[in-house]
This record gives sequence, C-alpha cells and structure tokens, in this order.
Amino acid sequence: MPIPDLPPLPSEAEYLNCIRCGLCLAVCPTYRESLHEIASPRGRLMLARKGLQGELDLRSNLYEQMYACFDCLACNEVCPVGIRPADLAVEMRRVQEQAGPQFWKKVVFNRFLQNPDWLEAATLPVRLYERLGIRGLVHALGLQKILPRRLRDMEAMLPRAPRRPLRQILPEVTSAGGESKRRVGFFLGCAQNLMYADESAAAVRVLARNGSTVVTPKDVVCCGMPARSYGRMEDARAQARRNIELFETADVETVVTDCATCGATLKSYGAFLGDDPVWAERAAAFSAKIRDVSEFLLSIPMENPAKRIAARVTYHDPCHLRRGQGVWKQPRELLKMIGGVEFVELPEADVCCGMAGTQIITHYEMSIKVLMRKLDNLAKTGADCVASGCPVCRMQLTTGLARAGLSMRVTHPVVLLDEAYHSDL
Ligand code: SF4
Ligand code: SF4
Repeated sequence: MPIPDLPPLPSEAEYLNCIRCGLCLAVCPTYRESLHEIASPRGRLMLARKGLQGELDLRSNLYEQMYACFDCLACNEVCPVGIRPADLAVEMRRVQEQAGPQFWKKVVFNRFLQNPDWLEAATLPVRLYERLGIRGLVHALGLQKILPRRLRDMEAMLPRAPRRPLRQILPEVTSAGGESKRRVGFFLGCAQNLMYADESAAAVRVLARNGSTVVTPKDVVCCGMPARSYGRMEDARAQARRNIELFETADVETVVTDCATCGATLKSYGAFLGDDPVWAERAAAFSAKIRDVSEFLLSIPMENPAKRIAARVTYHDPCHLRRGQGVWKQPRELLKMIGGVEFVELPEADVCCGMAGTQIITHYEMSIKVLMRKLDNLAKTGADCVASGCPVCRMQLTTGLARAGLSMRVTHPVVLLDEAYHSDL
C-alpha cells in the first residue's frame, strides 16, 4: 500500500526522537510474552517510522503490528523523551483506514455503534442464550467442555446477560435519596448497558444515595473508543458530537461513568475535536466534566456503608483508568470503606489483563498468555473477589478464572459498595 496522500500523517516528532533506550520493552506485555523486538513499542515505532519515511511498504503486515498493540499505554508512561508509541500505533491504524477504508468497519462503527437500537438488536441472541435457559442447560450437561478451546473461552467470557438492556429500564432522571445536593449526568456505556446492567444500576443507586439527582440520557451512542481503535476517527468524532449535545441538553454539573474505557474516551473529546472551530470549546468543556464513578464519589461527602461484607477483595487496574485517567487510589479507597472487607493488593495490578478491547478475538494466543500471568498473580492473593472498573477487563478475568478453575467473584467496586448500603450480606 503506498504512503497515503491523506493528511494528516503522524508528525515526525511522534516517531523521530527515539533514543532506543529500551525502557519501554520492560513494561510492554506483548514484548514480555514474545521477546520479539517487532512486538515491542520500540519495534512498532521503528516499523511506523520506516513506513512513513518510505523505506518500507505500508503493507498490511506492517499494520498488523499496530493492531497487535494492546494500547495499554504503559510505554507512553515510561518513555524518557516523551514519545508515545501507543498513540502512534493507533494513529497508524487511522492512516491505514484512510488509505483503504474497509467496508465492515463502516458498517460496525458508522452504523451499529451510532445507533443504540441496532446495537441492542444485534446482541439479542446473547440475551436469549441466557434468558431462555440455554446457557444453564449447556452448563448442566457440561456441553461447553466439548467446545474447541477458543470457543469455550468466548462462552466463559459472557457475563450473566441482563433480561433487558439497562437503557430500557432505568428512568431518565433518578431522584436523589433525601435532599438533592447536585445534578449529575450518568454516561451509560454500551458494554455496561448490554452486559452489565445490574452493575450500572448499582452505580446509579450509589450516586443517588449520596445526594445526587442522576440524569441518564437514553440516546447516548458509543463513546468512540472502538471506532478510534480501528482507525475510524471521523466516526469517533461524530459520536463525540452526539454525546456532547445530549449532555448539554441534560444541563448537568458533572458527567459520571462506571466504565474505564468510556471515561478515558470522554475525557479525550477536547482533543478529538480540538481542531474543529465549531466544537473545540464545547468538547473541552464537556471533557472537563467527566469523572469515573470512584473518582466522583471520593470527591463528595459520602455516607459510610453500614452493612459488612466479609470477603477478601483484590483490585485489578484497568489500563484506561489507571494510566488513561490517573485514577487508581479511589477504587481502592471505596473498597476499604466497606466493613468486613479485607483488601489485598494484587501483584502487578496495573499490568494489562490481555483483553484490550477485542484482543482475545483478534490476537487470541497473545491475549491468553498475558491473561495467564494475571491469573498467576490473582491466585497469589487468595482473594474471594476481584474488583475492576472496566467491563472488558471483567470479561477477560472471568475467562481466565474459568480456565484456571479458580472460584473468585468478579465485580465492579461500586457493586460491593451498593451491597454494603442495601443488603444483609
Ligand atoms: S501500548 Fe502496551 S502493548 Fe502497545 S506497545 Fe505500548 S506497552 Fe506494548
Ligand atoms: S522508551 Fe522511548 S526512547 Fe526508549 S526505546 Fe522506547 S520509545 Fe524509544
């Protein structure tokens, strides 16, 4: 594929200054598992550089290395000269897509992810699998054990799908319990809406219990991270504009989300639309309002949960919460607020779990290798429960625990808090 004549290409500053120190290799999960330079941040950087300078053909095998990056952001954090290899890998995907748009991406990112009704219809089979009792039957008969390994992992990954997407159930406005002290928006992400409805319902309850009137616009579209990750930046920008408009109409002081990926993306809308004279200011104002649910709760006076939960709990940091947003203390603090919880730190808690959006589908072997390292660390904690603020991390951890035969609950920290407020556990 020739160098595309489509501006803007990554600027030279994004790839020229590498001093080849190798610091990024030590933190890269794909390099640590493969020990191949080409699967390292520095290797990807060199490939991109040679491609952009015309010394290598920009062919699909070059781009494949960009898609093999987990976008875990670990390399961005350690580079001493300020190169951001993770961002460059995603930029190169955009270059490829601009040079030769792929039809399936247009259908997925420009159609389905911009239409919540279509998305809900497309995922109906997953809900029916659960709702009609087919999954229970499959497990009772042990049929999942005869599936090929990869399919078995995909099946294990599915959370207990809700009967209906939360968007269809949650009121547009949830009143504060007692006096309303503030009005906050709640961004209900696609995975939370479709797969983890109970967890987001718990997040809204906890917000309301702590004095917030919660407005959940029903017509939000995908945050834009999947479109950005697959090079469809214009679709990500269209999704940003739609979501900004909706929350402007909702007239809220803060926008809270319980999904790490959504939060990191919503906080980036200012950057997404920074060159758009019509939208730049609105996008920056919107991004400034975004808070992860743990970040928000720790910033307001909170009711102490009265009920005890006797459990040994650990925490896995989602990359896009810890490095993407700098939020890591707050989820731990929430867990430690709960009486009876014995918090135990997870070794390498901030290392990617291997899911990285869709890596378990697109780069299965590497995704599983990275996951197994996480499982070894989880086993060392002796925890009954692992909490994490990202739906796809929870899906990946669920797969790993099923593979390893470990019995450990996987949940969002705010769910445990909700239980400590409401239940008799
Ligand atoms: S973002 Fe993560 S997986 Fe990608 S190159 Fe950097 S460290 Fe490696
Ligand atoms: S840490 Fe930065 S300068 Fe060092 S090898 Fe990696 S990209 Fe190059």
